[in-house]
Amino acid sequence: MNRFLSILTRFFSILTLALVGMAITASGQTSGAGSHADGTLRVGLWTLWHDKALTAAPASSASATIRSCESCAARVFSHPIQIKAASGKVIAGDGDPAASVWLGGALQLSAHGETVMLHNPVRVSARSGELVLAVTLPVESYVERVVASESGAADGPESLKALAIVVRSFALHQAHGHADYDLCDSTHCQLLHWNGASDRRAAAHSATLSTAGETLWFHGQRAAAWFHQNCGGRTAGPAEVWPGKSANAATAMPWLVSRADPYCTAHGAREWSATISLADLTAALSAAGVARPGWKTLTVARRGESGRAATLLVGSTRISAEDFRIAVGRAMGWGKILSTWFEVSRLDSAQGTQFAFHGRGSGHGVGLCQAGAAAMSAQGHDAGQILAQFFPGATVADEASGTAWQSMRAQAFNLETLDASDGQLLPQLSQALGEAESRSGLQPAGTITLRSFRSTEAFRQATLAPGWVAAFTEGNWIGAQPLRTLASRKLLAPVMRHEFLHALVESQAAPSTPLWLREGLVEAWAGDPVAKQPAPRLKLDQADRALAGADNEAQSKAAHDAAAFYAQRLLDRFGRGQVLAWLRNGLPASALAAIQ
Ligand SMILES: [Zn+2]
Ligand SMILES: [Zn+2]
Ligand SMILES: [Zn+2]
Repeated sequence: MNRFLSILTRFFSILTLALVGMAITASGQTSGAGSHADGTLRVGLWTLWHDKALTAAPASSASATIRSCESCAARVFSHPIQIKAASGKVIAGDGDPAASVWLGGALQLSAHGETVMLHNPVRVSARSGELVLAVTLPVESYVERVVASESGAADGPESLKALAIVVRSFALHQAHGHADYDLCDSTHCQLLHWNGASDRRAAAHSATLSTAGETLWFHGQRAAAWFHQNCGGRTAGPAEVWPGKSANAATAMPWLVSRADPYCTAHGAREWSATISLADLTAALSAAGVARPGWKTLTVARRGESGRAATLLVGSTRISAEDFRIAVGRAMGWGKILSTWFEVSRLDSAQGTQFAFHGRGSGHGVGLCQAGAAAMSAQGHDAGQILAQFFPGATVADEASGTAWQSMRAQAFNLETLDASDGQLLPQLSQALGEAESRSGLQPAGTITLRSFRSTEAFRQATLAPGWVAAFTEGNWIGAQPLRTLASRKLLAPVMRHEFLHALVESQAAPSTPLWLREGLVEAWAGDPVAKQPAPRLKLDQADRALAGADNEAQSKAAHDAAAFYAQRLLDRFGRGQVLAWLRNGLPASALAAIQ
């Protein structure tokens, strides 16, 4: 498992081990170049740093590998290796110069005083004496990392879901102009902090998982999407921000129109001011190559439909206002000219010539306004309504098939599926939930979501679960392989009873309740074959560690066996009512002593 994703405890269904194993398509870990088809993206690492050397080391005691060509045999290394650029080649340790080296396993990469831990393959190549790093990430890991990096404290669950869908659409629905990877990690594409944003990860994870594989579509076509911090009260059409991009971008992308946003301005427009000297502006514009030195005047030549400056007149040179914003941002930081929605006036004084800017909004203004989305989320709008506000006419659909997810409500759960005929399975599912309730004596605390993926491959790519898993539960969210597959193997009722039990137990468990008790009670009540096995090989603390992060099927199975054994002992000795009280409030030492 990708460690980045193990935020909420994920309970795998053990039933798959014995029974579904052969039904599940075998597939290995992703490695190599990365492509949308296999559910991965190549993402540039440290793309603004211009590093000439880095150190690669195995992360903790785990092993790391290096290959000097894509099809070469991997060599395990246990000591740090220096990798440096020599014009267009890379040199790893005392090896010969090579076009690229491939790193794999559990890696710790260090350069420019920063260290990043990765469990993903990395290709290291070089251009003009600088290292070029491309990390192969599952699409969903990429989306989760970007949502964690780009979201803020004002976001709610629904604005994060909307953002996840926009981030995924941006990544998959267009080319981004990089030769060595699909996307860079800077705001040129979408910001990705490889280390930061730990406080945002749990929320980003659930927003990404609950929208896994979903992108924006417009009348059967995949729709490109953008987002920005704050539109200042009206979003921008792409033609006014990127006039060169497409002669009639507005007609080519009719879901991206300039639109009033009454939500982000509810508590006042985001206004800003900046005063910048002629000398500083001259330096910034010549560094970016947009205007030569010697100019003395700066005016807005043309405004777009939203009111933003579209074209500026710098002396006698016409430049795009967005190019101006980016040139100043690169030279002086992004906190000066926050948007192209500004007025500018010239001030002459004894100190020299200065330009005063007064503007509103932050970012390019195209697509989703994050401030507006957060305000809508707080007012109770869902992700679909948020996206409809910023991308009128666009719909949310499955990336691979273009089909929209259907939601079918029954009792206390919501079935989400792409297959309308799954509705026939609702009675069986309701019965499974009913059995879970009566065996545990628990009622759902809120609506349980059960999402059935259209194929084993789609399930793996969307959830990053291993192929031997039939279904899993995180909190009150259940992800499952196609229900049809489970039903055809007569596994639907037992697997779903097991998963519903997890959702019920999780709704009651205190955060400190050990995993073995949470898993063990489910096993005991589910009446799965493993629960009857005596004499576990693992002690309680060993079982707990293995449940938190089993590396393989056998370890996971042993942990489940042990959890079931101890939980059954507890139930036999103390009764269900007492054990449920301990689930909520913690286990006393005397109870632990009695069952070991
Ligand atoms: Zn389980
Ligand atoms: Zn980029
Ligand atoms: Zn807005």
